[in-house]
Amino acid sequence: MISIEEATRHIAQFAVPRDREAIALADALGHVLAEDVACSLDSPPFDKALVDGYAVRAEDVRSDGPALRVLEEVTAGETPTRGVEPGCAIRIMTGAPIPRGAELVVMVERTETLNADGTQVKLLQTEAKVGEGILPRGKSMREGEVVIPSGQRIRPAEIGLLAELGHAKINVWRKPRVAVLATGNELVPAGEDLRPGQIRNSNGPMLLAYARRCGATPIDLGIGRDEPGDLRARLSTGLESADVLVVSGGVSAGVLDLVPGMLAELGVEKVFHKVQLKPGKPLWFGVAQQAAPPRLVFGLPGNPVSSLVCFELFMRPALERLSGQAAVENRRFTAVLSQAHPHDGGRPTYWPALLSFHGDAWRVEPLPWQGSGDLRTLTKANSLCFFPAGARTYAVGETVEVVKIQ
Ligand code: AMP
Ligand code: MG
Repeated sequence: MISIEEATRHIAQFAVPRDREAIALADALGHVLAEDVACSLDSPPFDKALVDGYAVRAEDVRSDGPALRVLEEVTAGETPTRGVEPGCAIRIMTGAPIPRGAELVVMVERTETLNADGTQVKLLQTEAKVGEGILPRGKSMREGEVVIPSGQRIRPAEIGLLAELGHAKINVWRKPRVAVLATGNELVPAGEDLRPGQIRNSNGPMLLAYARRCGATPIDLGIGRDEPGDLRARLSTGLESADVLVVSGGVSAGVLDLVPGMLAELGVEKVFHKVQLKPGKPLWFGVAQQAAPPRLVFGLPGNPVSSLVCFELFMRPALERLSGQAAVENRRFTAVLSQAHPHDGGRPTYWPALLSFHGDAWRVEPLPWQGSGDLRTLTKANSLCFFPAGARTYAVGETVEVVKIQ
């Protein structure tokens, strides 16, 4: 049995991004950039007004100053036709280009119009700071600068910036395709009634949802029976169609745990089987090297919470790497225990928990949990609380490591 860290290292070695593709900006949300995006223009492209007000010369902002003559009005999208001369002002709206000669914009709230046609204005502000109310050209980005590096996941902010820079199309990494196969003679789909001995397939839908949530393209391989013919057919389909094949169930030591043998028959090489972890010990990982780049194959234990923990700890980082993300997101926190927790200690354990912020610190409450078949408790959890190997009771107030989950 290997450690969690060793398992993570092994998987990372094979989790490399796939092909690049050019897509429309409108479809880019959730993809990962496959090119450095450089700034194609200075932003803003001209000195621009940050407020609605009057563009003036600094020398005209005085407590004893006379009213200023308003030369014209410039709104966003227009350009000034003249400069600001001494004793004059130009009425300007937010976003409009600053006229020549203007050294600041006095906001409209600090002015008073003296006549109905707006040609005379008195400044109520008596001190001038040169540059006030102006965003100078190139202040937020300079032409040629890399503003979004390759490997960054595209969120709404990135979409906005790409649009600002005129990228209607961008190069991204193709989303990894993740095929999910639930195995077990006892499984029926959610829409069917149960006969004696049967249970519903919860892992299939859960893992497909996880794949989608991680920005991957899910492929549903349905329910495979614990029987060589059916397993072979479905596993082959998965290996042909996906970058990652996830099989739930059939990787433990039971008489019908046929998955590792069948994967070997299909040319998938085992990298490791079994991890010092609770829940999730039977985790199996292998690669199909015939394909380039190699397909990754995860055999997750059938118990739903074991599957969930294995996904969070091992598959999510792998999918982030496969998606082209430059760095795996860090979801680890430290928090103080809000209640005592007895830990039986055999293996390093990830226990379902509720993480919350209380005034000054993150607190974590291990939830009452009935073991790896108890998925219900996970619907109340937002994290997993880590207890290393070694039996002891953890006291209230002790600092522990916590991993945030989806
Ligand atoms: P296995 O890993 O196949 O030995 O399964 C371990 C336990 O998880 C057994 O109690 C199975 O009935 C249960 N199980 C296996 N697959 C699923 C699934 N897709 N959904 C819910 N429970 C499952
Ligand atoms: Mg089974």
